[in-house]
Amino acid sequence: MRILVIEDEKKITDFIKRGLKEEGYAVDVAYDGQEGEFLAKTNEYDLILLDLMLPKVDGLSVCKNLRASGILTPIIMLTAKSAVEDRVEGLDAGADDYLMKPFAFEELLARIRAVLRKKNTKVTNVIQVDDLTLDLVTHDVTRSGKHIELTAKEYALLEYLMRNTGSVVTRTMISEHVWDIDFDTFTNVIDVYINYLRNKIDSGFEKKLIQTIRGRGYILKE
Ligand code: CA
Repeated sequence: MRILVIEDEKKITDFIKRGLKEEGYAVDVAYDGQEGEFLAKTNEYDLILLDLMLPKVDGLSVCKNLRASGILTPIIMLTAKSAVEDRVEGLDAGADDYLMKPFAFEELLARIRAVLRKKNTKVTNVIQVDDLTLDLVTHDVTRSGKHIELTAKEYALLEYLMRNTGSVVTRTMISEHVWDIDFDTFTNVIDVYINYLRNKIDSGFEKKLIQTIRGRGYILKE
């Protein structure tokens, strides 16, 4: 899952970016409203964290502008203000949720999961495909009941494949949702990571869940 953070306080963006990357999210950062709006319109994000008080264009306007141009990416507003009318205004502008600063990182993670769950209309935190399970909260992955150890990036890739179970995902889709804006389209890093995953998920099992669709990409299915 790829997240855009629009926030001008570097201390906060560093903290959020580091924490989210550790959880396997791909993260891009914009330090003002104008750049944020531009990035949100030109990239495929799964979620946007949007600060209210921003240079150039304020958070409320960014939110309204994005919704007005048909961008429905879930938005969580970050606000230092506690006034009820600010929160109401944010939700009315099209935000899906808000979080008051300062916040505990665990709460931010829980709200991100909740908003993504709503978007995917998933009621459970565990995705299961055949005998493979992935827990979105604990990041625990098992096959045939056996725990599988994954790096943050491997986990993020598997989560993306499992959220799209039964559908072909292209390398472009993977790069847009699992990697950040610094992704180099000329590398074979996606194929390398698919191989890492195969070694951990499929090797030793008769049934291979990750399949290559020649010329198109990959599919994970039963
Ligand atoms: Ca700010």
